[in-house]
Amino acid sequence: MEDLMQKIVSLAKRRGFIFPGSEIYGGLANSWDYGPLGVELKNNIKQEWWKRFVHSRADIVGIDAALLMNPEVWGASGHLKNFSDPLVECKKCHNRFRADALDESQVDGRVKCPGIFKNGPCGGELKLSESKQFNLMLKTFLGPTEDASNIVYFRPETAQAMFVNFKNILDTNHPKLPFGIAQQGKAFRNEITPGNFIFRTREFEQMEIEYFIPEAQWEKYFEHWLGQMKQWLKHLGVSDKKLHYVDIPDGERAHYSKRTVDIEYEYPFGQKELYGLAYRGDFDLKNHMEASGQDMRYTDTETNEKFLPHVIEPTWGVDRSVLVAMLEAYHEEQAPTAAARKGEPKEEGESATRVVMKFPKWLAPVKVAVLPLSKKPELSKVAKDIFETLSKEFVCEYDETQSIGKRYRRQDEIGTPLVVTVDFESLEDKKVTLRDRDTMKQERSKIKDLASAIHDRLQS
Ligand code: ATP
Repeated sequence: MEDLMQKIVSLAKRRGFIFPGSEIYGGLANSWDYGPLGVELKNNIKQEWWKRFVHSRADIVGIDAALLMNPEVWGASGHLKNFSDPLVECKKCHNRFRADALDESQVDGRVKCPGIFKNGPCGGELKLSESKQFNLMLKTFLGPTEDASNIVYFRPETAQAMFVNFKNILDTNHPKLPFGIAQQGKAFRNEITPGNFIFRTREFEQMEIEYFIPEAQWEKYFEHWLGQMKQWLKHLGVSDKKLHYVDIPDGERAHYSKRTVDIEYEYPFGQKELYGLAYRGDFDLKNHMEASGQDMRYTDTETNEKFLPHVIEPTWGVDRSVLVAMLEAYHEEQAPTAAARKGEPKEEGESATRVVMKFPKWLAPVKVAVLPLSKKPELSKVAKDIFETLSKEFVCEYDETQSIGKRYRRQDEIGTPLVVTVDFESLEDKKVTLRDRDTMKQERSKIKDLASAIHDRLQS
């Protein structure tokens, strides 16, 4: 299973989904850059989410708040005091780890260091007794002097901006309960043990909704959001078999939460969190009202009653969404030989194993590839004209390098649902071949009907 992770990391680099960050300078540990295909994939996820949860719903509005906020926000939210992980240090190699993320197998009477070095595992004893809380907030200074009064924090979540802007939304939109505020954007955490590719990084993106409700209806809306998150995962192409909805028991939940569900996924490196859903009561609004001195109460227009709404918070990690989408899409198949595909053109350069990223069509970074069979100018001309027309409607790629078989393989590996091939017959019959990623079936389509044929196939 670990092998699958290596395959994904290497495909991501080879094809231009995700590169190690600052690579020419030897990298920056656990930082990653999204390449040409990765940015398309990630944007598709963010746009589909926005369409589904903001544009298609009359009860949710979006915001895009400043990343650096007044430090008092983080005092009121409790992050400055409590947003920490327990840290333990190895006596021998002095590496540091998150005490609550250590594998059971490392606990063997004493806790062994999981550090690995060139000459093998460290195996030294971790000083659990001296475990201390390590705050995950990343700091910087605003302005030219680096003194305490200029400290600001990179936000560790997008959520607080929704609470801070709650009053603005009430005053400008006059929404009626229940209603939500949504946001997507970067968050930063000084994680003790980042790793597993884009699973845990210090800079990542979130998509979050604060859904405000009357207290009495929290159970109904909790179920509603659980259902919405399940449907989203299905849409993303994630198999139910690998998902676990873990109800966090009393005592492990935040004190203000009556119910929290961690949505966990069986990654190749273990079952871990993908998304989260929490009922947060009125904890955040109450704290911000107290700390800011501003009245954050909602007025019921029928009864004139003023109160603080409660909140359900569904939260999605963007990078973990990209990771599970890639893990689920990855397929290795025995490619049928040209002889087995009677009547179809031979795919030159085809190898026995075909790697295909079977992304849902809406998610595929490139929707259509346009390939002239050869570099002959008369074919290139027709193919370039087709590319120009289609790229007005779909994300397309034009490719005339290498053999046609290798080009098909590239498109399979990047998950392109449809490939248009222009061959010599096209010059005569004004038709091209449309190849389906999943079935590898090839059909002839008239050039003039191509856009609508592609449209139909992308919808199906
Ligand atoms: P974990 O237990 O894995 O540290 P968390 O419970 O701290 O996660 P939340 O605070 O609930 O995570 O954050 C919401 C979502 O943001 C997570 O479900 C996850 O998808 C994403 N996320 C959190 N931390 C990271 C990170 N360091 N790198 C990438 N994504 C992250």
